[in-house]
Amino acid sequence: MTELTHFINGAHVKGTSGRFADVFNPATGEVQSRVPLASAAEMDLAVQGAKAAQPAWGAVNPQRRARVLMKFVDLLHRDMDKLAEALSREHGKTIPDAKGDVIRGLEVAEYCISAPQMLKGEFTDGAGPGIDMYSMRQPVGVAAGITPFNFPAMIPMWKFCPAVACGNAFILKPSERDPSVPLMLAELMLEAGLPAGVLQVVNGDKEAVDAILDHEDIAAIGFVGSTPIAEYIYGRGCSNGKRVQCFGGAKNHMIVMPDADMDQAVDALVGAGYGAAGERCMAISVAVPVGDETADRLIEKLAPRVEALKIGPYTAGEEVDFGPLVTGDAQRKVLGLVDRGVEEGAALVVDGRDFRMQGYEDGFFVGACLFDNVTKDMDIYKTEIFGPVLSTVRAGSYEEALALAMDHEYGNGTAIFTRDGDTARDFASRINIGMVGINVPIPVPLAYHTFGGWKKSAFGDLNQHGPDAFRFYTRTKTVTARWPSGTKEGADFSIPTM
Ligand code: NAD
Repeated sequence: MTELTHFINGAHVKGTSGRFADVFNPATGEVQSRVPLASAAEMDLAVQGAKAAQPAWGAVNPQRRARVLMKFVDLLHRDMDKLAEALSREHGKTIPDAKGDVIRGLEVAEYCISAPQMLKGEFTDGAGPGIDMYSMRQPVGVAAGITPFNFPAMIPMWKFCPAVACGNAFILKPSERDPSVPLMLAELMLEAGLPAGVLQVVNGDKEAVDAILDHEDIAAIGFVGSTPIAEYIYGRGCSNGKRVQCFGGAKNHMIVMPDADMDQAVDALVGAGYGAAGERCMAISVAVPVGDETADRLIEKLAPRVEALKIGPYTAGEEVDFGPLVTGDAQRKVLGLVDRGVEEGAALVVDGRDFRMQGYEDGFFVGACLFDNVTKDMDIYKTEIFGPVLSTVRAGSYEEALALAMDHEYGNGTAIFTRDGDTARDFASRINIGMVGINVPIPVPLAYHTFGGWKKSAFGDLNQHGPDAFRFYTRTKTVTARWPSGTKEGADFSIPTM
């Protein structure tokens, strides 16, 4: 069996803790490799390497740093097929979706080529007599990123591209469930010209994460994953004096108004609800048709489309709409929640629980499920299911639909489908959710805008990518300079004012 490694100081390094986690092929259910789980001592080794490499990298001018990212983007294109195959083999998503995972990361790498522009700082000529004032953005030093399984290419790149563009060294602790692609990305960054030690990949679980949280040489931590872990990391990281941003779970509502184009709404729900087997933080997991007549029309069109979804291993090619869940644990959790929904009295209009993939009976597949008549007190409404399960909550009015989405504890993404500009505008303005789609079901902002939820979907005050990433990974220093010719004689004991 393949034994994976860490990537430290420019080389693959075997784990020495003696602890490992199994990495599965979700389509077959087989263990295909094992990944080392780092000890605090191994993490320290990586941090020391990063700390040693950072000053020289931080001193490289921003344009040269940007050139490394330009080259990296070329290498991602060169290796796209290889990356997508490795990604699908460990995650289970289809090849086109795996390529999308790489491309949404690549787009952030492209955006970070703007580092020379973004890091220019500010200058006031003549802030006082003979006085100039300027602000500069300097790297924080060593930053770290802890990332989830569901986007093993995109989210690591959202973290390390801006961090290194700003002149930091970076420790990446990827998900232990699909660690191969992050290791490949680190190799490509080295090939693109990043000095050894600037990007370290340390695999592991809670022990490695705790070592990051408590390490005195790590200045900033970015996390993406489930909300309970986000809260834990935010609390412990902040209390250790670090700059921390954590992005958590979601329950994204899509409101369907009576005037919506129903065919478009159904297409949107099928793609956004079931793509990647629902394992996306921006998946639509709750459909909210407004009015019973809208709900009846929606279910009538949606149910046959959900029943017809094609499920299979990534090796089956473009024919497949979505693949298996990432692990047997994830499969059991999702099936358990569907059982719970039935017990709670929701109507299971499409029941995918008995789905078996011929020839892949041990794979972690779950068939598509569609619930109607879900109510807000049910566990299946409150919990993030993270599987191919869409719940329909019928609302009596627009105000009721809006209140439903607003009252949910999560606030990552949401969407409204309508032809009415007033309603859409009102929704975008009043909703307490970070990313809003108007006739767009997965409103993931592009690289040059920022990405982030509200409420229990995000902790910390800056978003991911876009201009916020340059703020998160730099510290501002402001210099006030007076040259001797402008200096009055004698001491001044009061606070200087203009
Ligand atoms: P997870 O919380 O289980 O794991 C995320 C990371 O935390 C992994 O690197 C993991 O090793 C580490 N971790 C797990 N348990 C830990 C513990 N007890 N202590 C310290 N570290 C621990 O999340 P996941 O299952 O990998 O990913 C799915 C979740 O991520 C979903 O909730 C999804 O909504 C969320 N997500 C959010 C966003 C966003 O931007 N808001 C994006 C993608 C995924």
